[in-house]
Amino acid sequence: MPSYTAPVDDMQFILHDVLNIAEADIPGYDELDRETTQAVLDEAGKLSAEVLAPLNPVGDAQGCTLENGVVRTPEGFKAAYDQMREGGWMGLDADPDYGGQGMPYLLQSATGEMFVSANMAFNMYQGLTHGAMSAIHAHGSDAQKQMYLPNMIEGSWSGTMNLTEPHCGTDLGLIRTKAEPQEDGTYRITGQKIWISAGEHDLTDNIIHLVLAKIPGGPEGVKGISLFIVPKFLVNEDGSLGDRNSLSCGGLEEKMGIHGNATCVMNYDGATGFLVGEEHKGMRAMFTMMNEARLGVGLQGYAQGVVAYQNALAFAKDRLQGRDVTGPANPDGPADPIIVHPDVRRNLLHQKSFVEGARAFTFWGAQLIDRAHRNEDAQAEAMISLLTPVLKGFLTDKGFETTVLAQQTLGGSGFTREWGLEQFVRDARITMIYEGTNGIQSLDLVGRKLGLNGGKTVMAFFEMIKAFIKESEQDAVLKAQFLDPLKTASKDLQAAAMWFMSHGIKDPNNALAGSYDFMHLFGHVCLGYMWARMAKAAHLKLEEEGADADFLEAKLATGRYYMTRQLPATGMHLRRIESGAEPVMDLAAANF
Ligand SMILES: Cc1cc2nc3c(=O)[nH]c(=O)nc-3n(C[C@H](O)[C@H](O)[C@H](O)COP(=O)(O)OP(=O)(O)OC[C@H]3O[C@@H](n4cnc5c(N)ncnc54)[C@H](O)[C@@H]3O)c2cc1C
Repeated sequence: MPSYTAPVDDMQFILHDVLNIAEADIPGYDELDRETTQAVLDEAGKLSAEVLAPLNPVGDAQGCTLENGVVRTPEGFKAAYDQMREGGWMGLDADPDYGGQGMPYLLQSATGEMFVSANMAFNMYQGLTHGAMSAIHAHGSDAQKQMYLPNMIEGSWSGTMNLTEPHCGTDLGLIRTKAEPQEDGTYRITGQKIWISAGEHDLTDNIIHLVLAKIPGGPEGVKGISLFIVPKFLVNEDGSLGDRNSLSCGGLEEKMGIHGNATCVMNYDGATGFLVGEEHKGMRAMFTMMNEARLGVGLQGYAQGVVAYQNALAFAKDRLQGRDVTGPANPDGPADPIIVHPDVRRNLLHQKSFVEGARAFTFWGAQLIDRAHRNEDAQAEAMISLLTPVLKGFLTDKGFETTVLAQQTLGGSGFTREWGLEQFVRDARITMIYEGTNGIQSLDLVGRKLGLNGGKTVMAFFEMIKAFIKESEQDAVLKAQFLDPLKTASKDLQAAAMWFMSHGIKDPNNALAGSYDFMHLFGHVCLGYMWARMAKAAHLKLEEEGADADFLEAKLATGRYYMTRQLPATGMHLRRIESGAEPVMDLAAANF
């Protein structure tokens, strides 16, 4: 059975030595001293390793079942859910006015990584609730917030996001679910939604569905979409549960992974719905859910890589095959552990350098969100908006790749059920698809985000990297090993952006054909930047008395691997982008 150990030391290093959160000047961060974050992370790590991780293969093997409209989650899920609820984990970063603990989103992300690494399918029940809570918090009326948020934050009610229909996923303008206004101000919701994560289950007393629907007679396409709260059980004015609403789970999807999470067909048969915000303004509210969900999915992607890498590493230290070509490392044994072989080390370092870089990138992203919300900082808001498709698309592509590399480390054992690696591969795969496929993320990046604020936001990104290099380059070793490669990669990214500007206007396909490479190019620059920041912090810390030299030297060696063996991919992506639309569009559809 695979195991999981929470990477608390690495998280502490990123929070306190790289991001310097205590000096971040963000409301609420002053409470996050080293001792506090250590205590929270230790506790979340214990829960993840001891309760959630052992349930991961159970959930995979048993899956969910549907009988007479009732969905049962795998054995042990309910008890674990209650334990998390009682521990207050559901409302860690939620508004204290509604019973939340008001902690920064950054801490929610750090603990979230642990929960997801330990058991992604399980964590989705509360992950979806978090997105729904945020949408109600941002766009709901005061009465709606009072009615729904306390129970969702406490965890006794959960939430969902209902966008997808049988004939539309990416193109939401096509949705058919209709919302007919009633005299009492409510709406009658009729239609079918598919693939709704956590749509029905036995973990909570009520499920608050957030449903996108169209009010008849409204504008065509996405402009006619409105957002509705459609609870499984209607809620009485005193907060107690009332009648069952006219909605039901019509089926459970059989799927490749995340078996422990119920993926439901949801039928709305004239269900009572309550408008969130204004009529036809559902897209705005939906983006609150989606942006947060996209970051959460990016986190899912690399978090699966984290646990896969941990198990690959343990195997590589234990498995004896072949000899170190430079002399036996285990002379008394029949063979050496496979970690001595350069190709196995390459494989492991690819995994390690990605997951540690991804963690830093995600935490930095979470800090930007806190700055945007808590300081009402428009620049931070714009920056995280630019980075969201990169966080989602790059981290899930590479996260999945990491699980496959980890599986490879185990040889044949990686393909068998017993070792658990194949589950990580299957579970990670969905992250590249849902919340908008990664292809769509790349279109969002190139089509919308590059031009954000007239291009000022992406320019601010380049300036930030330039300024960091300038202020750090007096450290000659850092410059040679980290800053110079970062500068080269950043120039590749700028060149790609310039190429889009000059060639995209002539033919939009020039930009669209290169968008996926651009997303990866951008992702590499972000991780290169993170590695340079981590290396700088490690250099400074090494000078401190009592510093953990082993940890810091390992950090630097891992970073050097990223800068020399992963970051040069930016050059390849740039060449591909500059080849333009022709190689992609030349072949007529009929001749494929
Ligand atoms: C396990 C699971 C859980 C899910 N959970 C939820 C949930 O909780 N709530 C919810 O609402 N939905 C959910 N979904 C749906 C998911 O978000 C969609 O599957 C996803 O957004 C893609 O939509 P689609 O499958 O309809 O693909 P399509 O939109 O049909 O796209 C098919 C392919 O065409 C590409 N494509 C489409 N349009 C374009 C374009 N304009 N340019 C370039 N390429 C394009 C896509 O990238 C994709 O590769 C879930 C799906 C799964 C499998």
